[in-house]
Amino acid sequence: MNLILLGAPGAGKGTQAEILCKKLGIPSISTGNILRAAIKDGTPTGLKAKSYMDAGQLVPDEVIIGIVDERLKQDDCAKGCILDGVPRTIAQAEAIEKAGIRIDAVIAIEISEEEILRRMSGRRVCEACGASYNLEAVPPKVEGICDSCGGKLIQRKDDTPETVRERLKVYHKETAPLVDFYAARGLLKRVEVADNKEATNAKILEALGLGK
Ligand code: ADP
Ligand code: ZN
Repeated sequence: MNLILLGAPGAGKGTQAEILCKKLGIPSISTGNILRAAIKDGTPTGLKAKSYMDAGQLVPDEVIIGIVDERLKQDDCAKGCILDGVPRTIAQAEAIEKAGIRIDAVIAIEISEEEILRRMSGRRVCEACGASYNLEAVPPKVEGICDSCGGKLIQRKDDTPETVRERLKVYHKETAPLVDFYAARGLLKRVEVADNKEATNAKILEALGLGK
């Protein structure tokens, strides 16, 4: 099963991708995490991506398409995968179609702008594994430490209010049109965020026909 998670920054795509990955037994592919790892490792891709990411802009389509292409070729994707944060433009969605990747469902996570701004200020991510936390909603068991790998939790550079506003602008212009793109293909399932990550996940599973 190949799934796409769509949603504004802060909608909780990464958190939901992690839960779905465990429940469905397929890997989640986060272009954001892959790019952050590339920056940390100082690879050519990382060097190219950094200035865009820090400014809240999208990394050029050809870079993203290359990353996804390469990642989907790996063995663990044979039974499917969860695409988290990609595609983010119509051009990326078309490239995925052209590559012959069959998408089974697209979950659009819906959230108000007010809630996004509130969440982003409390967001922390694991420097080592990319897991995300929220000081209010999803705090780690030990302050500043990742529950799953023991890594250090940091605030992302692009989570400052100014950059968040820029990312929201980019989202409305470039990514929101994907909702219609996938609705036209009969693949879209809208899910409004619930009170906590478990409740939101239950709604997603239900939308996929996998609920209890
Ligand atoms: P969020 O969903 O909270 O915005 P991500 O970790 O998915 O966070 O992405 C962080 C940044 O990485 C984006 O603002 C963008 O610069 C870059 N990025 C990630 N995925 C893509 C993509 N598919 N296309 C273009 N840029 C991307
Ligand atoms: Zn971690």
